[in-house]
Amino acid sequence: MAQSEPRLRATVIPVTPLQQNCVLFHDDATRRGVVVDPGGDVARIRAAIDEAGVTLERILLTHGHIDHAGGAAELKETLGGTVPIEGPDRRDAPLLDALEEQGRQFGLASARNVRPDRWLEEGETIELAGEPFEILHCPGHAPGHLVYVSRRLRFVIMGDVLFRGSIGRTDFAYGDHDALIDAIRTKILPLGDDVQFLCGHGPGSTIGEERVSNPFIQGS
Ligand SMILES: [Zn+2]
Repeated sequence: MAQSEPRLRATVIPVTPLQQNCVLFHDDATRRGVVVDPGGDVARIRAAIDEAGVTLERILLTHGHIDHAGGAAELKETLGGTVPIEGPDRRDAPLLDALEEQGRQFGLASARNVRPDRWLEEGETIELAGEPFEILHCPGHAPGHLVYVSRRLRFVIMGDVLFRGSIGRTDFAYGDHDALIDAIRTKILPLGDDVQFLCGHGPGSTIGEERVSNPFIQGS
């Protein structure tokens, strides 16, 4: 996070046995914010929201996998049903319609199907804790995967597109390795080497660090 904006905070809350990085992003001055990718463990997410004293403006999804979206419906319900769920791109609708089925496969019985209040798409800008974020469509790991970019903060919410030292898996029936590499090359790397990102699993990184050391994108 840019040092010039100490009021904006990104708190990582690892959720589900898959240790997915749910993120509470909020403004310490206004106490308004968003939760990104509440995959499960909703009580822990609620505790983080309460501890930070944050009023949630929206629940944001990067893509339709269970560890990212499985707790979204429950979180919305526990907050009184008024906080909208937004994203991902509508191409992930079949995944969001099958979260309960995924839950049975992965032993995550609490997962619930979810239909966002609003689909998002590339080219739109969304305000998170008062800060505008651009939306990029980066398919390959999931057909409707979205990445959220603040050019001013030099900060990206990456989901499962690019990790520190790795990339999102594409060994699903709908997976597309070439599309993922293409999205990283044409949309993510050009954001700039100084840009920091949080990703869905493990520690975050910078675009520059991955450009030189990530074995999956060498030669890009
Ligand atoms: Zn995923």
